[in-house]
Amino acid sequence: MSRAFNFAAGPATLPEAVLRQAQEEMLEWNGVGASIVEISHRGAEFMEVARQAEADLRTLMSIPDDYAVLFLAGGATLQQALIPLNFAAPGQAADYVVTGHWGKTAIKQARTYVDARIAADGESSGFHDIPPRSEWRLTPGAAYVHYTANETIHGVEFRDIPDVGDAPLVADFSSSIAAEPLDVSRFGVIYGGAQKNLGPVGVTVVIVRRDLLERAGQPRADIMNYRSHVAGESMLNTPPTWNWYLAGLVFKWMLAEGGVDEFARRNARKSALLYGAIDGSGGFYRNDVVPAARSRMNVPFFLHDPALDAAFLKESKAAGLLALKGHRVLGGMRASIYNAMPEAGVQALVDFMRDFQNRHG
Ligand code: PMP
Repeated sequence: MSRAFNFAAGPATLPEAVLRQAQEEMLEWNGVGASIVEISHRGAEFMEVARQAEADLRTLMSIPDDYAVLFLAGGATLQQALIPLNFAAPGQAADYVVTGHWGKTAIKQARTYVDARIAADGESSGFHDIPPRSEWRLTPGAAYVHYTANETIHGVEFRDIPDVGDAPLVADFSSSIAAEPLDVSRFGVIYGGAQKNLGPVGVTVVIVRRDLLERAGQPRADIMNYRSHVAGESMLNTPPTWNWYLAGLVFKWMLAEGGVDEFARRNARKSALLYGAIDGSGGFYRNDVVPAARSRMNVPFFLHDPALDAAFLKESKAAGLLALKGHRVLGGMRASIYNAMPEAGVQALVDFMRDFQNRHG
């Protein structure tokens, strides 16, 4: 049995070394006589796994001490609802910068609780670019400014952290967390589902500046209260222990590989190789995002003739290249090339694309 190169957007490919370790430890973990998924989350053994995972993520991302780190269930989408509930007064204005599909879902989740205002919107230009900061209409006194660091479907990524003045910056990093060094101190909140760069689906990381936890927010159940989650060390209820453990293995793997500096270099090389192949195809393949806003994690592309799509998908799968079908919102193709995608995988994809063009061009 051999593993294919898997370009899925999330759940996504995981490091093979991590999967092998999890496989080895599946039946009996660390001398406890049971697997990690069979032991209490409150026992000393799992508490140590949880503590170590947080410590490793703090090291990996250089997270300052005045930030709390949460490991929660519910996905990124739940955080998009909890953020207004926790950090905005009822009906208070909150600014949203929309550069693709996931920015729109963030507004949809927030709208019940806040006066969600679109400060900038790339939709009229087909989400091919990031509206220039000078054109954003920020609301004085807004509870926060939300943006999506990397749009997983549209393949649009911020290269710089936007300066939004005094309002806390809240960022959805679901599909680009830990892909490069990041100045966490510039943010109020960073959140992301694990299932792209951090591990398996089922656990979501929330990094929150502690002073924001003092905000009254809105009436909400305890389980929706970030302050309670921090006080309860992400164990208000039974946490997704398996996912937390696996994410911890991924953090250790990333640190051993050289940390975010090394992944930034690899991700730059991988994305340059793929965009180069697309741009150099003489129009056979096309990516519509302006180069300065192109994602290094998710590369959507189109064949010049959509009638070739089915053959491209069938032949790529046969060549051991999985999950290249684009999201239904956009169509075409998409290659997700997160930290765990080896450079050899992108090389294999580029080789296949050239070969396919030679045969069908
Ligand atoms: N934000 C972004 C940028 C995403 O890519 C996704 C999922 N693809 C989500 C939010 C939603 O995440 P979840 O399914 O974990 O709620």
